[in-house]
Amino acid sequence: ANASTLSVFDGNGTTADGHLVPLLANVGGAKDAVKAAAAGAQGVGLLRTEFCFLERETEPSIAEQVEAYRGVFDAFPGKKVVVRTLDAGADKPLPFLTDATEPNPALGVRGYRTDTTSPGVLERQLAAVAEAAKGSTADVWVMAPMISTPEEAGDFAAMCSNAGLNTPGVMVEVPSAAVTAESILREVDFASLGTNDLTQYTMAADRQLGPLAALNNPWQPAVLQLVRLTVAGAVAEGSGKPVGVCGEAAADPALAVVLVGLGVSTLSMTARSLAAVGAVLATVTLEEAQEIARLALSATSPAQARDRAREKLPVLA
Ligand code: PEP
Ligand code: MG
Repeated sequence: ANASTLSVFDGNGTTADGHLVPLLANVGGAKDAVKAAAAGAQGVGLLRTEFCFLERETEPSIAEQVEAYRGVFDAFPGKKVVVRTLDAGADKPLPFLTDATEPNPALGVRGYRTDTTSPGVLERQLAAVAEAAKGSTADVWVMAPMISTPEEAGDFAAMCSNAGLNTPGVMVEVPSAAVTAESILREVDFASLGTNDLTQYTMAADRQLGPLAALNNPWQPAVLQLVRLTVAGAVAEGSGKPVGVCGEAAADPALAVVLVGLGVSTLSMTARSLAAVGAVLATVTLEEAQEIARLALSATSPAQARDRAREKLPVLA
């Protein structure tokens, strides 16, 4: 095809039998969002708000936050944008929220937990998100990182409601959240699996340590089991609340097929992976994806899970 006739991927992920799987982008600010829209993302599945303020020594003002969030919303008029509240700590310290002297930062006061040590920051962030949403047509959803219990999910939902934000959700990236997904989803409207941290915490393997990379692999059958359990929790809850994935696993085309087979309804990833994931999804029916997921789930190693999936995906050969 000549370059002028090459169409941009449109983000409308579908299986071969027409089952829709919207493909969304992970972004860190307005610049990324503009690129993601150009790459065909159907919306934003993860706005990492801490990336907007990584250099800051002090809490950004509400006005600064409104400007940062609005820049992202404006790139996706009429589309879904999932704003994650500040996920400070461990690999992403923010001087105004986190304590650099903690002995185990990944197990420390990070993500949603900073609400206990720095009260007010989350309320002000939610006020800024609500204000930015007012001036835009984006469909704004909000989610909290590092939620571990149904009680935390309920508290977060109440804070969102107080701020006038009406689609609260949580990340499922701590194993306890996957295990209690049914109760958690009674409190909020959606869940998004963060497979990067879910893998780290399931395998007890620091995601930043090279020597632990073999453990820190989202193809680990134990991680896939927790994805299955989260979807089962959503089904048991009974009102059809969506479970997406926004960890890097969604950007691996074969693993994306497994996730869809496990019942995940949206995939959010770095924009550069959208086209490759869309192309592979289009080669399998939902039933085939479910069969591939079963094969991967029953594997005894990540390599075996991956090999089993790829064997069934000739397009990746
Ligand atoms: C995750 O943990 O999978 C995730 C998407 O969040 P982050 O990588 O920003 O921790
Ligand atoms: Mg995470």
